[in-house]
Amino acid sequence: FLPHLIASLEQVDQTYIMVKPDGVQRGVVGDIISRFEKKGFKLTGLKLYQCSKDLAEEHYKDLKLKSFFPKLIDYITSGPVVCMAWEGCFGVVASARKLIGATDPLQAGPDTIRGDLAVPTGRNIVHGSDSPENGKREIALWFKEGELCEWTPVLTPWLRE
Ligand code: UDP
Ligand code: MG
Repeated sequence: FLPHLIASLEQVDQTYIMVKPDGVQRGVVGDIISRFEKKGFKLTGLKLYQCSKDLAEEHYKDLKLKSFFPKLIDYITSGPVVCMAWEGCFGVVASARKLIGATDPLQAGPDTIRGDLAVPTGRNIVHGSDSPENGKREIALWFKEGELCEWTPVLTPWLRE
């Protein structure tokens, strides 16, 4: 059982976080990045990017049948977004969702990004993957090879038990 335990301790996951166009326009990119940095996640990819309709539709393909889908695609393509790949120990995807808060910012707790900075669901300023599988899928969708950076922060031994 020991190798299994060690493997699970060493397991890292990735999550795709994106500041949506309203977050960029409102100048809260730094605040949002800072929250993930302070939490101790490792940044492995970062770019400002104007996405195509095709990419936005592929990213949100699970929501294709929702009534808000066309508006969502207009919103996401309305200006540049900030694409980020963050890495952390097992649980990083769920932990990032906690920092982001509920989809409806009015339901999001205080001290969460959406709870602090947003009001309507249709302008909730940030995206975060909902599972490790989607984290991988979305990072592969938004970043080309060579745009991601593998590195070992010197603080790693200080952050792990
Ligand atoms: N959305 C919307 N109206 C809704 C539900 C969702 O405009 O009633 C938008 C909102 O921007 C949300 C995105 O669609 O962030 C994706 O929806 P999802 O349910 O995946 O929420 P999330 O994972 O972003 O919290
Ligand atoms: Mg989602």
